[in-house]
Amino acid sequence: MPKQAKAVALISGGLDSLLAARVVMEQGVHVEGINFFTGFCVEGHTHAIRKKDRKRPKRNNALWSAEQLGIKLHIVDIIEEYKDVVINPKHGYGSNLNPCLDCKIFMVNKAREWIDVNDFDFIITGEVIGQRPMSQRKDTMPVIARDSGAGERLVRPLCAKNLPPTLPEIEGWLDRDHLYAFNGRSRKPQMALAKQFGFEDYAQPAGGCCFLTDKQYSVKLSDLWSTRGKREYDLDDIMLLKVGRHLRPRPNFKIIVGREEGENRFLEGYRKRFVHMIPTSHTGPLVLLDGEISAADIELAARLTARFSQGRDAERVTIEVNPKGNDTHSLDVVPLPTDEIPAGWYL
Ligand code: SF4
Repeated sequence: MPKQAKAVALISGGLDSLLAARVVMEQGVHVEGINFFTGFCVEGHTHAIRKKDRKRPKRNNALWSAEQLGIKLHIVDIIEEYKDVVINPKHGYGSNLNPCLDCKIFMVNKAREWIDVNDFDFIITGEVIGQRPMSQRKDTMPVIARDSGAGERLVRPLCAKNLPPTLPEIEGWLDRDHLYAFNGRSRKPQMALAKQFGFEDYAQPAGGCCFLTDKQYSVKLSDLWSTRGKREYDLDDIMLLKVGRHLRPRPNFKIIVGREEGENRFLEGYRKRFVHMIPTSHTGPLVLLDGEISAADIELAARLTARFSQGRDAERVTIEVNPKGNDTHSLDVVPLPTDEIPAGWYL
């Protein structure tokens, strides 16, 4: 009896990776999933915090995809190693700080290491030629296969017929006739295939699978790097960039303003690390101050905090100030008028 081939599928939580894994499973291959946690993933985080996203299911879509497929999912933390991909991408960035091509090479390479250790035969991705401007182009597909070291062990079932045959096709583990030739940005072929497989409730990613494709997020990350004078970050830094309104009124500090109850609760977890303030005379946000802060900065931040509170039109608002390691005190301030907040303060 011929051996049952084993493949690992990169599962992002989106439709394409779900379909790619399923297409291969249809051919009798044993498939397991792998999901890489970079810290920038959109999955579950802000959806769980923000009210406006409440209609979206609070689930980890990668786990959900694996459940739909009935396969085992390996979630691998790559936060530390991934920093070099974000900070020094050999192939550069996309339209924002998204290093998609280096990211794909890195992830396929990690999957290649994984199949070597776990004695699997090949790797599956949901890539489609022409779908994404940076990493999913006809000329970059071979670069990913080559630079990741996966070579012919990398199969893209959704567009395989547009690419040279891979090892599993040559070995007869996969029948090329039952792979696909999707091409371009249209989602219609994927939606039709999803219907054929009976998948209805799949994730519809807008823009990309991570925050690095987001313009505003990239502005905040660039600001973090330029004010620190070096390109580095830790997990808390990149989590905080996902939450709140960020304003930089002075080069030496910025404020992070909770926009709603969920965000205030999330920011509370960071109170010990930051000077923070909260209105006590009126309902209002928790505000974190990030940077080297002078007494004059405290006054300005308190007036901004008052501006974002329910007391924005009041004559004075009382703000509780909590310096790091010092005694809490209160300030009575005049809310900063909206027309005195330059647009350039908003990150
Ligand atoms: S969108 Fe983010 S996770 Fe997806 S390939 Fe680009 S950099 Fe990587």
